[in-house]
Amino acid sequence: MSEKINVMVWNEYRHEKLNEKVKAIYPEGMHNAIADGIKAKDLNVKTATLDEPEHGLTDEVLKNTDVLIWWGHRAHGEVNDETVKKVQKRVLEGMGLIVLHSGHFSKIFKALMGTNCSLKWRVADDKERLWNLAPSHPITKGIGDYIELPAEEMYGERFDIPEPDKLIFVSWFEGGEVFRSGCCFERGNGRIFYFRPGHETYPTFRNEQILKVIGNAVRWASTKITITDVCPNFQPLEKISSKNK
Ligand code: ZN
Repeated sequence: MSEKINVMVWNEYRHEKLNEKVKAIYPEGMHNAIADGIKAKDLNVKTATLDEPEHGLTDEVLKNTDVLIWWGHRAHGEVNDETVKKVQKRVLEGMGLIVLHSGHFSKIFKALMGTNCSLKWRVADDKERLWNLAPSHPITKGIGDYIELPAEEMYGERFDIPEPDKLIFVSWFEGGEVFRSGCCFERGNGRIFYFRPGHETYPTFRNEQILKVIGNAVRWASTKITITDVCPNFQPLEKISSKNK
């Protein structure tokens, strides 16, 4: 068995084909930019996209994935419900999931959160500063006090998510808003990290610090154990002496 962490970068891969501005920033597609940006000796990184058969996420692929990275936006509705159920099952079994940016509205993130996952937004070239709230956490390894992005889409509170198990980053935007932009959750045996930056018209997935956070999150979220759910009728280990008293 490989010692490496098996990472699957999943991308909708539509904006890059339909929008010249996005195509100019990510001619190879955001999935390949992210995969290339996080490559390391301990990671075995592959990619999959929406328009592949079964969205590139067959049972075999999911079984062999330790961490799934998800970027989607305009075509959330086209993601097959069966696939969403399978991904959810794998997360509950122990697979890691990293949801990027507009993935806040993906079927899989909403299914795992159980809330609307809505927020305020604006595309107006706001400067974004992501403040590091957890300098001792593995996800912020090598990151200083903050990450600054010269221009990004604004996401503002209130972000309708359950209370995160751990809040890693809070973003400040030039227009005055704040946002919980790095959030850890556990669901079943799986770890989930939501990371806000990454609007398609900005070169955010070329930023070394952003890529470092994603790589760190992959290692944090990687499968630690795999337990398939069962709900057994269970016999007592000791004789229950109080029975029928
Ligand atoms: Zn966006």
